[in-house]
Amino acid sequence: MRAIIAGGTGFIGRELVRELREHGWEILILSRNPGKVAAVFENGGVIGMPWDNGWADLLGPDTAVVNLAGENIAGGRWTRNRKQRILQSRVRAGERILRAVERTGAAPGVLIQASAVGYYGPRGTSPVNEYAESGSGFLADVCRQWEASTSILEKLGTRRCILRTGMVLGNGGALPRMLPPFKYYLGGPPGTGLQGVSWIHLKDEVRAIRFLMENPEASGPYNLCAPNPVNFAKFAHILGTILNRPYKTPVPPFALRLLFGQMAEEVLLSGQLALPERLTQAGFEFTFPDLADALRDVLR
Ligand code: NDP
Repeated sequence: MRAIIAGGTGFIGRELVRELREHGWEILILSRNPGKVAAVFENGGVIGMPWDNGWADLLGPDTAVVNLAGENIAGGRWTRNRKQRILQSRVRAGERILRAVERTGAAPGVLIQASAVGYYGPRGTSPVNEYAESGSGFLADVCRQWEASTSILEKLGTRRCILRTGMVLGNGGALPRMLPPFKYYLGGPPGTGLQGVSWIHLKDEVRAIRFLMENPEASGPYNLCAPNPVNFAKFAHILGTILNRPYKTPVPPFALRLLFGQMAEEVLLSGQLALPERLTQAGFEFTFPDLADALRDVLR
C-alpha cells in the first residue's frame, strides 16, 4: 500500500505519516521543498519529492493520494493577496494532481481531499450534517472550489473522500495560539461565545483519514469532527478548568475585527456545530468523543 501525501510536512500530515507507517503504508510526500521532508522526518523512511517531478509514474489503482496542501488560513490578516494565496494554493494542488493523472493515464485508487467545516459557512445553533447546503462567506467559497478541484477523478473510477475537518486539537494548529490569554488569567470566548466549535483530536483526525483510505465502501463528504461539538463559551469553560485559570473574560468583537479583519468574523466570531454523521454510520469509533478528555490528553 502506497500513499502520496501532498502537504504531508504540516501539522496533520506529520501525524498522518506516523499513523500510516505504523499500519504498513509506504509514504511519499509531495512538497514545495523536499529537503524539508528529510528534516521533518529525521528518522528517515519517508521519501520527499517536488511537485513537478517523477511522482506521477507511481499513480495507479494501488496508490492512495492524500491532498492536504494549502496556505495556512490563520497565517495572518486576510489581505487581498493572502486570500488569493489561500484559494489558489488549494485549487492548484488539485489541478496538479489532475494534470499528473492526465499525463500518465493512471488514476489513483483512492483520493482523500481535504476541506473544512467552513464549507457550511456561519451557522446558528442548529447542528449540520454532510447533507447540509454550503454556506456564505470567503471560507465557504474556498471550500467549494477546493472540493471541486479534484471531483473529475470520480469519473475516472477513483474513490474520492472529502474531509470536512473541524478545529484539530494537538500540539500545533489553533490550540497553542489560544493558550497565552488563559495563562495570563485573561481567558474567555471571542464575542458572545454562542458560536459553534466543531473540534477533533489530532489522533482521531488521522485515524479517521486512515479509516476512509482503507474502507472500500467510503466515498463522498465526511465531517471530521467529534460527535460532541460545543459553543465557544463552553470550550473556554472546559479549557480554563483544565488549566486551572479563569475563563470568562470575553474578547470584544471590535478588538478582534481590528486585529484580524474578515478572518475574525469568519473564523472566531461565527462557527458551526458539525456532526460526524457519515463517519459514525460507517462504523468509525472516536477515541476522544468528549472535549474535556481530548484537551486533557493534548495538554498533559
Ligand atoms: P499546515 O499549514 O500545517 O500544512 C499544510 C501544508 O501545505 C504545509 O506543510 C505545506 O507543505 C503546504 N503548503 C503551505 N502553504 C502552501 C502553498 N502556498 N502552496 C502549496 N502548498 C502549501 O496545515 P494542517 O496540517 O493544519 O492542515 C492540512 C489541511 O487541512 C490544510 O489544507 C488545512 O486548511 C486543512 N484543515 C486544517 C484544520 C486544522 O485545524 N489544522 C482544520 C480544517 C481544515 P510544504 O511546505 O511541504 O509544501
